[in-house]
Amino acid sequence: MTRPGPNQRLHFATRAIHHAYDPNEHQGAVAPPVYFTSTYTYPTVEETDAAAAQGGLLYAREHNPTTKLLEARLADLEGAEACVVVATGMAAVGTLTLSLLSQGDEIVVHETLYSNTLAMMSGGLPRFGIKVVPVDLAAPANLDAALTPRTRIVYFETPVNPTAEILDIAAIAERAHAGGAIVVVDGTFASPALQRPIELGADLVLHSLTKYINGHGDVLGGVVLGRADLIEQVHGNGVRYLTGATISPMAAALVLRGLKTLSLRMDRHGASALAVARMLVAHPEVAWVRYPYLPTDPGYAVARLQMASGSGMLSFGLRGGFDGARRMLSRLGLITRAVSLGDTESLITHPASLVRARKRIRPEARLAPGVGDDLLRLSIGLEDPGDIIDDLQQALAR
Ligand SMILES: *Cc1c(COP(=O)(O)O)cnc(C)c1O
Repeated sequence: MTRPGPNQRLHFATRAIHHAYDPNEHQGAVAPPVYFTSTYTYPTVEETDAAAAQGGLLYAREHNPTTKLLEARLADLEGAEACVVVATGMAAVGTLTLSLLSQGDEIVVHETLYSNTLAMMSGGLPRFGIKVVPVDLAAPANLDAALTPRTRIVYFETPVNPTAEILDIAAIAERAHAGGAIVVVDGTFASPALQRPIELGADLVLHSLTKYINGHGDVLGGVVLGRADLIEQVHGNGVRYLTGATISPMAAALVLRGLKTLSLRMDRHGASALAVARMLVAHPEVAWVRYPYLPTDPGYAVARLQMASGSGMLSFGLRGGFDGARRMLSRLGLITRAVSLGDTESLITHPASLVRARKRIRPEARLAPGVGDDLLRLSIGLEDPGDIIDDLQQALAR
């Protein structure tokens, strides 16, 4: 491959494989080395001082070359000034909020959120004197009444977990900025291959690397990307002493490997999910389907503007409701009953069943607003789409 000149911009799929790594600087190793070390030394006292002055180049909680390569590559793909990779997606949510919010501050969130982010917002942050204000951001105008001079952050997912509802990033960002708040988008359901919120006005983007970006269901990770001044706080304060939620270099190396096939995988996830969504919409046992790239979906127009295609995530409900969902789940043969998403395996969950079971150990467990008893969340994997459809059809047969 001829290396591009400084003004040549390579395409997304190419940058996901090559950006920020030159084998000739690493003894010709085509796969990046994994640096297993907890600490660093320098040849002289002066160079140690210089490393200390740059922040974090002394100790592996804050600095690791393998993780740094992953950060450089993810920042480039997302179109972000800066990036910090952490141990899990929840570590990203926790490190971000604890770094940027103080007692008395307010955060506005969309009312439907990933279950553990919802727990953070409803039970976690209020314990520290941070006010969390849930709003239905499906109508961005609802934001205006929720913003106060203490609102620091407007936070939402799109597509939303678990509904696959679409929120309008540009419209929400415009109103949030007018009110003096920054905008944080959790883009886990789309990945940067399909959606880049910073181009649409978001200040920070967050992903669970555990999902599409790694894509193989064998590692946990999280990332926050965006404005350099904010990332500096999340890294320099958040990771250093608020959470210490550093990713292991082995996990970072696995995510770098998964990332190489991200665009290829997203094409297949999206094409198969659209075929499954079309089958479900036409099925007599199915009451409703949400998939943003179905022309009949309420999110279709906005999805066309802010996403390159649909991902593998869809939600649906059966005419048989809660019991019908459980009956269908028990009949599936190929599709795996498991939480998580974005893996090579197709995965399905029934949030109402999980909440019912969890209430035994956590009485406060409840479904997020907007999530019904009948909702099934389906993450379409990379199996042959015909086999996925056959499995759903046999499980839905009367
Ligand atoms: C899974 C998920 C998270 C949390 O990520 P972990 O890596 O599991 O900690 C956060 N947001 C969304 C939308 C998710 O799907």
